[in-house]
Amino acid sequence: MTCVMNLLPVSLSVKLPDWLVPSIEPSRRFLDDSERMRFVISLARENVIRQTGGPFGAAVFDEDGTLVSVGVNLVVPAQNSVLHAEIVALLLAHHRLRNYHLDRFGCELYSSCDPCAMCLGATFWSGVRRLVCGAPREAATEVGFDEGPVFPESYAYLRDRGVTVIRRLLETEACEVFRLYRQMGGEVYNGHATDLPAPASEQTQKDM
Ligand SMILES: [Zn+2]
Repeated sequence: MTCVMNLLPVSLSVKLPDWLVPSIEPSRRFLDDSERMRFVISLARENVIRQTGGPFGAAVFDEDGTLVSVGVNLVVPAQNSVLHAEIVALLLAHHRLRNYHLDRFGCELYSSCDPCAMCLGATFWSGVRRLVCGAPREAATEVGFDEGPVFPESYAYLRDRGVTVIRRLLETEACEVFRLYRQMGGEVYNGHATDLPAPASEQTQKDM
């Protein structure tokens, strides 16, 4: 397939769905992990209900619990495989703070689901101090999403570098979004065929 564009692109923009930012009270502070997780789950749910992307939500907060940025999955509407909720939230946090290292602002990333391999890598490179997740990766894979090569060692690596990782916070509420997505017939996309056997390294977890 040949590219339909005559010229190589020189920039790109990422636009959040129209409903998202106006729905947020800008001065609101989120006091604890549960409140922040409930918020990112609500973003994921709303993204499903409004059919503006996949069943994932994320946000970056500073150390005081002030919202820095939000993200929802935009893969299908933007036709862009990397626009997962965590990537969108991190891109917008970097953009807002004009800094490539979010640790300098005490930032923390909250995601409605365990990050995929790409987002876990981006979490590390962003410099966030904490990663807090809702639904376990199994909830996403049950629906058909491939989370890629994420291993227990991947989380251990982040923890060894000083990133606090908390998983399965408000798990039941977070998993509910996937059930809703399936009910609504949401599109399940993956970079590669899902009927292939899992890589040997994933089965044995010895190769990482
Ligand atoms: Zn991801």
